[in-house]
Amino acid sequence: MALIVQKYGGTSVGSVERIHNVARRALATQSQGDQVVVIVSAMAGETNRLLTLAGEITPAPDRREMDVIAATGEQVSSALTALAIQAQGGQARSFLGHQIKMKTDNAYSNARILGIDAKGLRKQLDDGGIAVVAGYQGVDEQGNITTLGRGGSDTSAVAIAAAIGADCCEIYTDVDGVYTTDPNVCPRARKIGRISYEEMLELASLGAKVLQRRSVEVAMKYGVPLHVRSSLSDLPGTWVVGEDTGLESVVVTGVTYDKSEARVMLVSVDDKPGVVATIFGELATEHISVDMIIQNAASDAQGRTDVTFTVAKSDLDKVEPMMTSLSEKLGARDVQYDERVAKVSIVGLGMRSHAGVAARMFEILAKEGINVQAISTSEIKVSCLVAAKYAELAVRALHDGFELDVEPKRRGD
Ligand code: ADP
Ligand code: ASP
Ligand code: MG
Repeated sequence: MALIVQKYGGTSVGSVERIHNVARRALATQSQGDQVVVIVSAMAGETNRLLTLAGEITPAPDRREMDVIAATGEQVSSALTALAIQAQGGQARSFLGHQIKMKTDNAYSNARILGIDAKGLRKQLDDGGIAVVAGYQGVDEQGNITTLGRGGSDTSAVAIAAAIGADCCEIYTDVDGVYTTDPNVCPRARKIGRISYEEMLELASLGAKVLQRRSVEVAMKYGVPLHVRSSLSDLPGTWVVGEDTGLESVVVTGVTYDKSEARVMLVSVDDKPGVVATIFGELATEHISVDMIIQNAASDAQGRTDVTFTVAKSDLDKVEPMMTSLSEKLGARDVQYDERVAKVSIVGLGMRSHAGVAARMFEILAKEGINVQAISTSEIKVSCLVAAKYAELAVRALHDGFELDVEPKRRGD
């Protein structure tokens, strides 16, 4: 007997018919002798609808109340799914975040899970039933409802799988696995059979929203095998597993893009000790995460240079006044902002042992006439900042250039 967690995304519970399909799948798994916990997202489009509604009441809604509203989407879908299982002759019960003590910190709209009390879920399973849990939501120390960030039901599912010691966590979504790039952007994208936690973590962090980044972090930490697949077919999807399980370390596994960042440039500041410490120290004090950073050595006689970095677009309203006062303090000539940028990245474990991968990436982009505005690298990824209008073109060019449509065994890696 196995213990299986199944997470169904918004499209998989998007209609009454789809919810019945979820109930059928959960019951089919149970009838093979397995115990099943189902985690559901809100019905497709519902979370956006709820957040928009709040925004129509007031332009800057209170964050506590926003989470109370946003969490209702999953309250509805979890109870509907439990009803569908019951209607098909099964035994099911829904559980909200607070009912399984999904404890989080109090960072509304982006809370982190601190612990789960799985007793209620275990009892439901031991009684022969299916437990249906509302994803995306938790409760803080004071009993306030919190949510885990967009796409957070993935993290609810993996955290529950870790807490109950599940054999695997199946993530059912609207694509049938993790692809070499977003299949909705590049028709030549190829489904990956197995991928390491590390590569998946980079892909998710760099824009592949098929899994929420934190869900991969939790899976990696607790060694939960993930199986990303479609709720509308029985085809095997993609296994996300540890690196030691016979994976081939291909040079480039996937390509991603992310349009959520903006570029900020402080023009002409002194190239001397303490300047960047002041800039990034102030950003850190305000909890603003900086991603890419470039500073050249001074090239003019006055010893002045430009400092460029990227931040989330959603932080720009906080960053702009800070930069205005900093540029006065540091005597910068100007501050420039550009929201029309995209970060395009390539990811692959094999980069650790192959030289020249970044050079090849620049060459491919240059051939398309795409200018690189900033670069950042880690052991297993290279990211380039480009004009947003070229994002999709860059993804397709890199996908073709690195031959990602070809099975790794037949590729010239
Ligand atoms: P769900 O509602 O099931 O959580 P999401 O919309 O969050 O689904 O995630 C699935 C989407 O992720 C796909 O429709 C696809 O457009 C996108 N995606 C981005 N990158 C990839 C990738 N490398 N492989 C598969 N899907 C990807
Ligand atoms: N319903 C939430 C969202 O749309 C959480 C999720 O779907 O994972 O972001
Ligand atoms: Mg999702």
